[in-house]
Amino acid sequence: GGVGSRRGQGEAVGGTLTGLDNGADVEERVGRLMRTAEAKKEPLAMLALDIDHFKQINDTCGHLIGDAVLQKFAKVVGAVVPAKSVFIRFGGDEFLLLLPGHTGKDKVTVGERIRQRLENSWFPEVGKITASFGAAEKNQGEDFPVWYKHADAALYHAKNAGRDQAALFAGADCYVLPEVRIRWAREWECGDADIDSQHRELLALSQRTLAEAFRADFSPLRLLHQLERLLRQLAYHFISEDYFLQ
Ligand code: GH3
Ligand code: MG
Repeated sequence: GGVGSRRGQGEAVGGTLTGLDNGADVEERVGRLMRTAEAKKEPLAMLALDIDHFKQINDTCGHLIGDAVLQKFAKVVGAVVPAKSVFIRFGGDEFLLLLPGHTGKDKVTVGERIRQRLENSWFPEVGKITASFGAAEKNQGEDFPVWYKHADAALYHAKNAGRDQAALFAGADCYVLPEVRIRWAREWECGDADIDSQHRELLALSQRTLAEAFRADFSPLRLLHQLERLLRQLAYHFISEDYFLQ
């Protein structure tokens, strides 16, 4: 089966709006990846990416701003995709990332890197945006439409589970991938303003430390530095918590 656009032949996908659009050579590049993986019995993973609530951007800011967001999204994500992957726009606000040699575990890392990069990117026209991800590994002998259907099912699952996250198609089911992020939960509040504010600060520091570990330009030294800051803050917190409790 062909690669084709999800939105069908009749609908314009914006020419070369993002420089990644479903052009004539895409079918060839994808076909080559699939044939190589089959021949060498190597894993090949697909990550379907779809911007969250993109229609709202069009509706509130206009189609031109929507176009600019699509362009920037392609650039921001394109900067962190692995070297041998194929990254294409699949129509509308949906993109596909094909990852040769990648297994389930790697996909988590790739998806998380992209998510982190988006979280740290500012879109001048609209602020921050998020995306959802659906991942599926290609089974031996599987054609493109079936493989894509699995990634799309996982994407649908990630959207339903609250967006801004990744899901994996495995077997016949979809699973939300473990989050590499810590979010403050209201039930963690103890009622003491000082202790609560220190807890929040520690949480933010932990999140920043975690983010260091998933940066595309990962540096062990920077991670170590961030860990040291976290530990210092933690030590300070335990001392002052003792004092507050007394
Ligand atoms: P969800 O979180 O469920 O993905 O919500 P959504 O609003 O992103 O969902 P949906 O996929 O329905 O919306 C995609 C929109 O993208 C609809 C369409 O009008 C718009 N769109 C498609 N192609 C283009 C384009 O080239 N430029 C712009 N500006 N908008 C486009
Ligand atoms: Mg969308």
